[in-house]
Amino acid sequence: MLRFLLLAVLLMVVARLFWRFVDGLIAGARGSAPQGRSATAVKLVRDPVCGTYVPARAALSVTAGGTTHYFCSEECRREFSSRQ
Ligand SMILES: [Zn+2]
Repeated sequence: MLRFLLLAVLLMVVARLFWRFVDGLIAGARGSAPQGRSATAVKLVRDPVCGTYVPARAALSVTAGGTTHYFCSEECRREFSSRQ
């Protein structure tokens, strides 16, 4: 019986971690935070070169023709500039 209880508790902990992870994935894919957590939301922007989502604050950016483009790294920014 004790063993069963321990297993149940373990499953609950794993399930909670799993859903937190899924929540994060969904937020990342949408580019926004889950409902009710907008106060702590980090704006994600897509790197047009490699397709990676990066937090706008941490991203490198280039403004061209009134549009701002965000990049995950200096390499991607250079790659983008060389295509222009
Ligand atoms: Zn990139």
